[in-house]
Amino acid sequence: SPALRVTEWSDIVEWWPRLGPASEKYSRGVVGVATGSATYPGAAVLSVGGALAGPTGMVRYAGGARAEVLHQHPSVIATGRVADAGRVQAWVCGSGLGTGEDAAGELRAVLSAPVPVVLDADALTLLVDGSLADRLRNRDAPIVVTPHDREFARLCGEAPGADRVSAALRLAAWMNATVLLKGDRTVIGTPDGRAYVNPTGTSALATGGTGDVLAGLLGSLLAAGLPPERAAATAAYLHGLAGREAARGGPVTASEVAAALRPVLAPLVD
Ligand code: AMP
Ligand code: MG
Repeated sequence: SPALRVTEWSDIVEWWPRLGPASEKYSRGVVGVATGSATYPGAAVLSVGGALAGPTGMVRYAGGARAEVLHQHPSVIATGRVADAGRVQAWVCGSGLGTGEDAAGELRAVLSAPVPVVLDADALTLLVDGSLADRLRNRDAPIVVTPHDREFARLCGEAPGADRVSAALRLAAWMNATVLLKGDRTVIGTPDGRAYVNPTGTSALATGGTGDVLAGLLGSLLAAGLPPERAAATAAYLHGLAGREAARGGPVTASEVAAALRPVLAPLVD
């Protein structure tokens, strides 16, 4: 089907935002990351790590893991709440955020910003449990959701099943969002019925925290101005390559996947 394609390296090269001599940190885009909590600081560190590897010039962190984020990533500007973070061109929200009242408030703040958002993990749980899904339908700026199979099942009421492309497209149409359905062969579906299949996946990525790295990288690509489906296909492709690169050194941790994004991205940086 012409509406289904397998992402290729040449697509990534074409889509990647190039730096001109006049680039400065703000024109490269600023990505906001609202993830993690005092209970789950690692999710914040990993998603910020993914965001820092991407093409944006600046990362703003808003959440409950400021000390840990700044310790690991001193180049980040960190505040406690989304409302205090200042202007960003895209938000990443969800992993390790928690599902209580505070977390729901932060998700609402992210959704009311007129910029693209990535929703993952706890943000997806909040959408289901907090009747926030209605807010997505009336939102003008793009949304990308990044469920794994169990998160998909909670959002949809049924498992993705064998036809993962149809599953991603169904959820995309229903949510009016771009869906990145994670797994062995990650699939991206758009609300208007186009799909990408990612060929770079590796089971080395089947370890805790790698999804957080992916969400951060995806947010950076959105903030740099890529359309949602290109941002999603690019993030999945590069994340898979980083998983393979990290696995050359032996068993993989999510921080190593974030670190391995650098050599993977080296050919794209001008
Ligand atoms: P999460 O479950 O949110 O941490 O995300 C896991 C990440 O690892 C996603 O990017 C998945 O696509 C990837 N992943 C998990 N299992 C596999 C697998 N068996 N083969 C390829 N990629 C996988
Ligand atoms: Mg996850």
